[in-house]
Amino acid sequence: MPATVEPTKNGTGVVDGAGAYPGPVGTGRVLARGLLRRCPVCGSGSLFTRWFVLAERCPGCRLRFQRIEGHWLGALGLNTIVSFTALFVVVVASLVLDHPDYHSGRLAVVAVVTAVVVPLVFYPSSKTMWTAIDVLMRPLEPGEADPEAPRRQRR
Ligand SMILES: [Zn+2]
Repeated sequence: MPATVEPTKNGTGVVDGAGAYPGPVGTGRVLARGLLRRCPVCGSGSLFTRWFVLAERCPGCRLRFQRIEGHWLGALGLNTIVSFTALFVVVVASLVLDHPDYHSGRLAVVAVVTAVVVPLVFYPSSKTMWTAIDVLMRPLEPGEADPEAPRRQRR
C-alpha cells in the first residue's frame, strides 16, 4: 500500500470522515505537486513571487515551507543530484554520439551549459519537491496546515 499524506483538522493523522482535508493523497501525487512547483499538501500554485523566491507559507493551506531549521539543505542536495545526473547523461551521450571522433571543445561547452542551466531551471522545483519528500517522511504536525485559512479570509 502506498504511503499517504493525511493532514487532518485534529492533527492526529487519522482522517476524521467527511470534510477531512485534503484527504488521503498518494505518494505519486504529492511528489508530482512538488515537481510542478505546487504545494505538496493542498496542490496550490503561485507559490513563487519570482523564479528564486518562494513564499514563506502556502496561500492555500498556510503550510510553512521551511518546516525546520536547515530544511533547504535537502533541496540543495536534491538539486545537486539532479544536476550531476543531467551532466553525466549529457557527457556520456556526447561521447557516444561523437565516437570515434571526439570534439573536446564542443563537449566542454555542452557540459558547462548543462552544469549552469539545469540547477537554475530546477531550483524552484527542488524546493517544492524537497518539501514534498519531507512531508512524506515526516507527517504534518497538528496545526501545521490550516485548510480553513482561505475560507476565513474571504468572510
Ligand atoms: Zn498548501
